[in-house]
This record gives sequence, C-alpha cells and structure tokens, in this order.
Amino acid sequence: MGVFKLGKMTFGSLFKKPETVLYPIETKPQPAGLKGHIAIDVETCILCGMCDRSCATNCITVNKQENYWEIDRFQCVQCGYCITVCPKKCLSMDPNYAPASTVHKADRFDVPTQDAAPAKKAAEKADAPQPAAASAEDVEKTSEAVDSALEGKIALMDPEKAEKVRAALAARNA
Ligand code: SF4
Ligand code: SF4
Repeated sequence: MGVFKLGKMTFGSLFKKPETVLYPIETKPQPAGLKGHIAIDVETCILCGMCDRSCATNCITVNKQENYWEIDRFQCVQCGYCITVCPKKCLSMDPNYAPASTVHKADRFDVPTQDAAPAKKAAEKADAPQPAAASAEDVEKTSEAVDSALEGKIALMDPEKAEKVRAALAARNA
C-alpha cells in the first residue's frame, strides 16, 4: 500500500465514528438469529432432564431433588440442541450475550416445585373476579319459567300419570 493511500486512510479515520463500541458498557444492536445465550422459562420447566441428557458439552445440570436448573455458560457452545429437545418449549436462544465474567461459575435457576403449581393456580383463581350472585328476583323468574315448562309437559301426559307427577312435585316443594 502506498504511503499516500495509507496516509489518506489514517487521516480520514480521524474524522469518522469508530466501528467499535465500549463493550460491555455499550452494545451494538443484535442481528436477528444471533446466538447469545440460552434462556429458560422456569415457570414452564418440569425438570424432566431431557436437556441435561442431550447436551453435547454436558453443561446443563437438572436437579429434581433440589428443584433447580443450572447451566455452565463457559462450556455451552450455543448449538441450540437443548431448545429442540425440550418437551415444554421453555428453553430459548436469547440474542444478547451473557455478561462477561472472570469467575468460572454456573448460572443456577430455582424451578417452582410441581406441588406449588396447583396452589398457585388456586390463588390465581381466588384473585379472579367472581360472577355476581343471582338476585332473588332472577331466581323467582327462573323457577316460574321452569314450572311453566313442566306444566306444559305434564299437560301432554295421560291424566293418571300427570296426577302422579303433580303429586311428586308438590311433595318435593313442600
Ligand atoms: S446450546 Fe448446546 S451446548 Fe449449550 S446447553 Fe444447549 S445443548 Fe448444551
Ligand atoms: S428439557 Fe425443558 S422441561 Fe425438561 S428439564 Fe430441560 S428445560 Fe426443563
């Protein structure tokens, strides 16, 4: 490269915005499909261990006794295979890189116990708005409509049977 060309490039770069950013303080927008890090939705995980058994680098640990899911991000090669084998679809590829670290440690996520799930659902149900109780007027109107429909059916029966049905209804309502 000629001296003139090199000088032009060097001089030109003095007035251009740098191509690099101060990572991890600054980050560039992530392109679609970038393999950043594996993320888990712990609410959906059932601790089946499929991801643990399928991981090529053995970096996932599923502990059903202590209810946690753990990943060693230093060993993960972002192949994405665990995402495809998870039966609950609770693993995904987050396009953001995991934070830089100088300490080798695994990321542990506590998974809610399956025993806690019905209790959680019951609490959600209790918080949900309940339908308004029917008023006494509505109840009376409904029972009048039922009586009228029944009377229509009884009227079509033979007189002896109709009499028995009326007697049974009167005994029930007494
Ligand atoms: S992306 Fe690949 S290496 Fe990383 S945890 Fe999943 S299966 Fe293992
Ligand atoms: S395969 Fe999915 S549901 Fe099973 S332990 Fe792994 S993350 Fe949880």
